[in-house]
Amino acid sequence: MGMLCPNLRHKTDKRMLERTLVLLKPCTLERALAGEIIGRFERKGLRIAGMKMMQLDDEILDAHYAHLKGKPFFGILKASMMTSPVVAMCLEGVDAVAVVRGITGDTNGRKAAPGTIRGDYCMSNQQNIVHASDSPEAAEAELKRFFCPEEIFDLGDTNLARLYAADEV
Ligand code: UDP
Ligand code: MG
Repeated sequence: MGMLCPNLRHKTDKRMLERTLVLLKPCTLERALAGEIIGRFERKGLRIAGMKMMQLDDEILDAHYAHLKGKPFFGILKASMMTSPVVAMCLEGVDAVAVVRGITGDTNGRKAAPGTIRGDYCMSNQQNIVHASDSPEAAEAELKRFFCPEEIFDLGDTNLARLYAADEV
């Protein structure tokens, strides 16, 4: 089954499971929506391979949002990401990066399609509920930035047969 995702190799080396980073932003915890948003990912069939609360600081946000340095909103974006802790999650599944981006929706909550997380839960272009890695390469770098290796768990094969057909994983 083609190329393996670089950020996850199972013992059999046959799987196409990917891992991706999701952050539940401070606005989500402040609005008491964390459980509801985590539930959406779980119901989709994404597996939670890692999850913790973190207080972000300047250093990690400068790295995480390096692509936005120089934008006029950079300062208020960073400040908004430090108002409360975030929940960092490592989600796992076949094509997890693209699937999670699809569920997340357009950056701007006012433009995000109904049915997406941002489309259903926010009005803001900035206070937009979640961060989600935008490519497998970004996912690999971001998971390393937010998690130690021992904080991400090998979930094994237990429920894969409930989530996928035999030739999909
Ligand atoms: N952002 C913002 N104003 C903008 C664009 C982005 O405040 O015009 C914030 C927003 O919180 C977004 C984050 O910066 O989620 C990262 O921007 P990116 O373009 O990577 O969007 P995302 O990948 O989160 O959809
Ligand atoms: Mg992004």
